[in-house]
Amino acid sequence: MEIAIIGAGPIGSYAGYLLAKSGHNVNIYERKKEIGKPVQCTGIFTSDFDGFSFLNKNKFLVNTINKTEINFPNGSKIAVNQKEYVVCRTKFDNHLANLAVTEGAKIFLQHSFIRKEGENLVVKDLANDCEKEIKPNIVIAADGPLSSVAKAYGFYHHQRQHNYGVQALVGGNFDSNTVQTFFGKDIAPGVFVWVVPESSTMARVGLATEKDARKYFEKFVQNKDYELLEMQAGTIPIYHPSQELVKDSCYLLGDAAGFVKATTLGGVIPGMKQAEALVRCLNDSDLDYEEELQPIISRLKLHLKIRKVHDRFSGEDWEKLATYSNNPKVLKLLNTYTRENVTTLFRKIIWAEPRMLYFSKYLGEFL
Ligand SMILES: Cc1cc2nc3c(=O)[nH]c(=O)nc-3n(C[C@H](O)[C@H](O)[C@H](O)COP(=O)(O)OP(=O)(O)OC[C@H]3O[C@@H](n4cnc5c(N)ncnc54)[C@H](O)[C@@H]3O)c2cc1C
Repeated sequence: MEIAIIGAGPIGSYAGYLLAKSGHNVNIYERKKEIGKPVQCTGIFTSDFDGFSFLNKNKFLVNTINKTEINFPNGSKIAVNQKEYVVCRTKFDNHLANLAVTEGAKIFLQHSFIRKEGENLVVKDLANDCEKEIKPNIVIAADGPLSSVAKAYGFYHHQRQHNYGVQALVGGNFDSNTVQTFFGKDIAPGVFVWVVPESSTMARVGLATEKDARKYFEKFVQNKDYELLEMQAGTIPIYHPSQELVKDSCYLLGDAAGFVKATTLGGVIPGMKQAEALVRCLNDSDLDYEEELQPIISRLKLHLKIRKVHDRFSGEDWEKLATYSNNPKVLKLLNTYTRENVTTLFRKIIWAEPRMLYFSKYLGEFL
């Protein structure tokens, strides 16, 4: 089967690798000259990343972290002991692209999807300033949050919601084993500020909001002892349950499909899992794509619900959450379950700290 993948981000390349390995004829079209540049990602992954054990982490790993500090708006904080990986996105994206090529996929750099003409796609060779028509059996739109392929195929019929992420690579003094997060409406409405250390002298500091991200970012870093080394920014889609994922032999994947956790805005692991589900289904027509996606979608839906609650959190809610979270039994659970497993975590937390039932006033969001 001839498959065209638009976008050699991590998800397009990973899908390309899996498909080429299964024997398909895979062409990946990437509009940029270089894969993985510019960086528009913090590159922090939960320990669920261990599931992709065939990846050679040494090729792209920058730091491994074992602790996350959650700083509440009232100044109190808790520490959660969880393993996190910090990767160099340029190296990570290239590693996946190289794996795809090793399995036989072809990557066409500086080739941009332009439009759809009937059954054909028009791709522009930017280096030679000429257009080409291609007619693959299957098209995979892995062209990121503002996917032109999805638009051309008429996928975006609802109001797509996005956040805008702003981050900087900064010099300073950091605990290289601890991620710092800062919550509160005045700090980063809807999400949080993250300080992710690459080492004891360098960190990635960022936040994402629906609007004014830059303003909140500048407010956070002012008066901090940081040396700003490089600014990075990018659009992040918010998962939408009614997003169609397949149409006319075209499949949306990764950010193009909005497969991003609405709470933490992490998209790499959900996108890679979605790519695996798609490849399983393309290789075995007895499998049902919706069914294969169900475990990922139910997690994304839960993250969306939590985000909606987070958006409504009052000062009193934050106070109570800070107090109730500081219970050793709750902390033990937070140390045990990653944010990829929030359903189990929530259930256990209610048993461990019944005062958390105070938050049942938000139960409506979950029904
Ligand atoms: C500031 C910020 C911080 C983030 N931090 C994290 C994090 O710590 N952890 C995490 O898991 N996620 C994070 N994310 C989200 C993560 O970056 C995305 O979920 C991930 O990159 C999605 O991969 P993708 O391959 O779907 O899309 P992308 O990485 O966006 O790749 C899409 C590719 O398609 C190409 N393309 C676009 N249009 C065309 C076209 N017309 N023709 C050809 N090629 C095209 C692009 O050049 C690009 O290479 C962050 C995002 C931002 C903005």
